[in-house]
Amino acid sequence: MKLPSIVFALIASLVAPAHAHGSATEKRIAGPNGGRVITKVTPHVEFLVMADRKVKLTFLDDAGKPVEPAAQTATLTGGDRANPTKLAFAKEGGALVSDKALPEGASVPAVLQIKVTPDAPVVSEKITVNMAKCPECKLSEYACTCGH
Ligand SMILES: [Zn+2]
Repeated sequence: MKLPSIVFALIASLVAPAHAHGSATEKRIAGPNGGRVITKVTPHVEFLVMADRKVKLTFLDDAGKPVEPAAQTATLTGGDRANPTKLAFAKEGGALVSDKALPEGASVPAVLQIKVTPDAPVVSEKITVNMAKCPECKLSEYACTCGH
């Protein structure tokens, strides 16, 4: 599993200069815990998979500093489409932490749904939870900031 992703990363780094000029390429920012920052919601939220594969959602202020969750609620659906795992979130230690672990697998497709307030529309973010480490930024691929 490892080699193809390394080869892909090498190819991606070789072709990177060709599309680096595109102004539409949004530079991803790393979260304070090394997770993926989701900017579709305000405040922004860091999506982090912990060592036990539970998911931690940390809300961030404009300076990228963690803030206590307010009225936000979240659910995550991941894994096998025919038999998906649903994760619910509860407040824990200044963040929202999932009740269950993500399904097993080196790369797990997931959809995170967040409501900023009970009456707010659902905001969905598709995330391929690829736990392999990026050779460039050393973050997990799902949180990689290199733009490949
Ligand atoms: Zn990277």
